[in-house]
Amino acid sequence: MSIFSIADDKHIPLYRVMWIAATPHFCGEDDCDCEGKYEIRLEQGEAVWASGVDRDEMLKALEHWHGGAETPEEDW
Ligand SMILES: [Zn+2]
Repeated sequence: MSIFSIADDKHIPLYRVMWIAATPHFCGEDDCDCEGKYEIRLEQGEAVWASGVDRDEMLKALEHWHGGAETPEEDW
């Protein structure tokens, strides 16, 4: 299992990921090239924009990295 996951054509180290957007980006700007992509926020205010597939891979990788069996969702 790699410590990296690919988003936006970059190998992102999992330990640098702060959070991942649950919904795709929409701002309505004509010249926006992040439209429909998911923001992955990194340490130090950086962010990358992932496709839905890349975001799913990133989430899977993070879950695995944090201990596999555990799921981030709470059982209510
Ligand atoms: Zn935008």
